Amino acid sequence: MTILDARQVTKVFHGRTVVDHVDLEVHKGETVCLLGPSGAGKSTFLRCLNQLETMEYGAVYVDGDLMGFREHGGKLHAIPHRALAKQRRHIGMVFQHFNLFPHMTVLENIIEAPVGVLGQPKNTAITEARALLDMVGLAEKVDAYPNSLSGGQQQRVAIVRSLAMKPKVLLFDEPTSALDPELVGEVLDAMKSLSQDGMTMVVVTHEMGFAREVADRVVFMADGAVVEQGPAREVLDSPREARTKDFLARVL
Ligand code: ADP
Ligand code: MG
Repeated sequence: MTILDARQVTKVFHGRTVVDHVDLEVHKGETVCLLGPSGAGKSTFLRCLNQLETMEYGAVYVDGDLMGFREHGGKLHAIPHRALAKQRRHIGMVFQHFNLFPHMTVLENIIEAPVGVLGQPKNTAITEARALLDMVGLAEKVDAYPNSLSGGQQQRVAIVRSLAMKPKVLLFDEPTSALDPELVGEVLDAMKSLSQDGMTMVVVTHEMGFAREVADRVVFMADGAVVEQGPAREVLDSPREARTKDFLARVL
C-alpha cells in the first residue's frame, strides 16, 4: 500500500532547476534513506513533499490525497491556507535544528499543535505526549525546558512533537548532523525503533550505518535527480552508477 507518492516533483530557484522531476513512492511501513552530496536538492525535495515550498511542477499524494487540493463536486480545488495546515499534519518533518519553542516546557511543545491545530482535548494530548516521551526514554523530562536538555534529548523531543500529530509519513532532514558525535546514537536508536514499529519514514542522512541497518531502500540523489535506488545493501555495497560510487567512496 502506497502512503507517499511524489510525482515529477520540480523546484526552480532563480531560473535554476534544483529538483528536477523527481518521483518517489513509499509504501506503508517502509523506511527510505535519501543520500547524496551537499547541494543535491535533498532538503528542497523534502520541503516540497511537506508543502513548505511551492513546486513549479509535480504532485504529492499522501495516502491517496493530493496535497494542496481537495475534491468537491468531482473537481479539484486549491485549498485555503488554514486547511493546508490541517492537511500537512499527515506529513511530519524533523529538521537538523530542533526548533523547539524555548519558552515552553517539553510537554507544552508537544501538545501545542495537537491541541491548537487538530483541536484535540488537552487531557488526551497530555496522555499521548507522556506515552511518546516514555517511548524515547524521556518520560522524566516532561516539565523541563528545552535549553536544559542535551541536543540529543532535544531532537528526541522534536521527534515526539512530530509524532504527536499522528503523521502518516515522517520526513527527517539530517536529524543528527548538528549533534555532538556522542549524542548521535541515542537519536538514531529512537529512529530505528520507530522504523521497527512500522512508521513510514523518509530519512536524509549521511549516517551510512543507519542506512545499511535500518533502511528498506536507499535513494541516491545528485544534481536534483535520482541517480540510483534499490535495497540498502545492494546500493551501498555494489553501486552501479559512477556518481554513487564516488559519493560512497568519500563518506564510507
Ligand atoms: P541538499 O539538501 O541536498 O544539500 P538543498 O536542497 O539544500 O540540497 O539545495 C539544493 C540547491 O538549491 C543548492 O544549490 C542550494 O543552494 C539551492 N537552494 C536551496 N534553497 C534555496 C533558496 N531558498 N533559494 C535559492 N536557492 C536555494
Ligand atoms: Mg540538506
